[in-house]
Amino acid sequence: GWGGCGLVFFFFKQKTAYEIYQCDWSSDVCSSDLLSLQSRPTSADSQTAEKPLSKVIALDGPAASGKGTLSRLISNYYGFAYLDTGTLYRGVAWLLLSEGIDPADMAKAAKVARSFSVEQITNANIRTPEVGAAASVVAANPGVRAGLLEFQRRFAKTPPGGVTGAVLDGRDIGTVVCPDAAVKFY
Ligand code: C5P
Repeated sequence: GWGGCGLVFFFFKQKTAYEIYQCDWSSDVCSSDLLSLQSRPTSADSQTAEKPLSKVIALDGPAASGKGTLSRLISNYYGFAYLDTGTLYRGVAWLLLSEGIDPADMAKAAKVARSFSVEQITNANIRTPEVGAAASVVAANPGVRAGLLEFQRRFAKTPPGGVTGAVLDGRDIGTVVCPDAAVKFY
């Protein structure tokens, strides 16, 4: 519950001498419904030597569990970037549908997951039942999960906007995507 969240916040604050700043609800960093990044992070970004390690907060949970709301609150509070990982699966599904490709085509779906750019799905209407259904099909494809894993890990390690941490939510974040996250919610 919320009392527990308060405790975790307290623990997190005590444990890390970390710069915490309030970020406004309208901030570019956290307010986007889709993704708070302008472009796919590159592997060159993660090789920047002097950068301190990004703080990662992971929220796992099924649909409608409140993880999106909590993720937004946390990312705003700490000024961290937020990635709703469901949008990636929806984005891949939307791209396949819009190109007339069957979402069940394993090889083509995996290829799209490895190579799409965030700009391609930024203004896409991904919140439809049709895209949701196709997203569950692509989410069961191991090739898609592998392709998106790389994207998510890079986002966590080098969050866009030069911010010092990332909040990721989705079904496998604390277990598979970011097993070393500083704080995990289940
Ligand atoms: O949460 P949302 O409904 O946007 O997720 C879209 C689809 O992607 C769902 O079928 C969900 O189970 C799947 N998904 C997933 N792993 C994640 C995030 C979403 O399999 N990390």
